[in-house]
Amino acid sequence: MLSLEEAVERSLAAAPLPGTETVPLAGATGRFAAADANTNVSLPGFDNSAMDGYAVRSADLNGATPESPVDLKCLGVIPAGAQPADTLGEGTCMRIFTGSPIPQGANAVIMQEDCSTVPGEDGTVRCNDSVKPWENIRLKGEDVREGDLVVAAGARITAGTIGLLAATGHDSIEVGLRPKVGLVATGSELVEPPSGLKPGEIYESNRALLASVVARTNGLPILYPIVPDSLDATVAALERAFAENDAVVTSGGVSVGDHDHVKPAIERLRGSLDFWKVAVKPGKPFVLGQVGGKPLFGLPGNPVSALVTFLLLVRPALLKMQGAAEWRLAKRPGRLADELANRGDRRHFVRVTIDAKGLVWNAGGQRSHMLGSLAEANGLVDLPPESRLAKGDPVDVLLFEE
Ligand code: AMP
Ligand code: MG
Repeated sequence: MLSLEEAVERSLAAAPLPGTETVPLAGATGRFAAADANTNVSLPGFDNSAMDGYAVRSADLNGATPESPVDLKCLGVIPAGAQPADTLGEGTCMRIFTGSPIPQGANAVIMQEDCSTVPGEDGTVRCNDSVKPWENIRLKGEDVREGDLVVAAGARITAGTIGLLAATGHDSIEVGLRPKVGLVATGSELVEPPSGLKPGEIYESNRALLASVVARTNGLPILYPIVPDSLDATVAALERAFAENDAVVTSGGVSVGDHDHVKPAIERLRGSLDFWKVAVKPGKPFVLGQVGGKPLFGLPGNPVSALVTFLLLVRPALLKMQGAAEWRLAKRPGRLADELANRGDRRHFVRVTIDAKGLVWNAGGQRSHMLGSLAEANGLVDLPPESRLAKGDPVDVLLFEE
């Protein structure tokens, strides 16, 4: 049996490197930067005021208090967006607003709350407090310097990255292409919801479930009709899915049953094939194939096994195909509210719910066909073989939902 780490490495190795496209910033959330981007401007771009108030020379206000205020002559107003023409000399100030450039000669801003007008003396500002040099001034380049890296190749584009890119003068970004992922479900017992079921039939649920996680991974899921358990039908479905997609994900038909046709179908398509029993529960049988240089991920049919193997083995590859530097699921530390036990000899990825306080609950029935607990869960706990964790123990939860 293959270790999970080895399986992930092989899966990543099968993922082709991405093509790229340039997209407008506003639509780039969740995509991955294809290249480093440096800024050719600084942030702030010039020294500017952090407050509404008056630009002053701090030395002029030495020792100013409400009891012994200092009066300054106001030379004029600097609205945001304007470039001040005057230079402040001793005993003068200028009215200034948040974001307005600091005039020559000034080295501080006094808040308007610390100033008053002088009755009968238009153009005089009474300062009731002192200011330290550079107080209330945002200095050029203190946030980001010209030439700094603002986004690294492989980084996920977030709202913050988009803000930074726009603030440094970008309107678009080059990102990895979203891979088209064909989803093929095999099984003669499967029926498209919501049509009626005959005895022995079940609703097909893996394509919809996988489409949801493929989309969450930024892939473009494309659903194909249910494939009955026949070699010819499987070959035809895979041939079409490979022709139309960058990767294909199948579910079912990868065990050693008489009706498991995914492996022989890949052989018929002259693809290469790697069949693993990965040492994890749920989800032991897994097929990694390649047809015409495109990867095939053959997931087990049980819905929970399909989702867990997707998260552990397919998601990393789909992320790599988009140029992502990080492909691991996020971990959130928590504390167990229920005992968790693994009596088996494989790592068990237990469905859990972690709440806002960090309490981690067993999500319910843990067998691989049980969808009720999957719907409750937002994460997985990686429980080593033959292990038991007690209530109150710290755990890391691998998050797959918010
Ligand atoms: P298989 O891997 O084909 O042997 O299927 C294992 C179990 O998962 C069986 O109980 C199947 O009926 C079920 N199953 C397989 N594919 C799906 C699917 N797409 N939707 C729901 N259940 C499925
Ligand atoms: Mg089957």
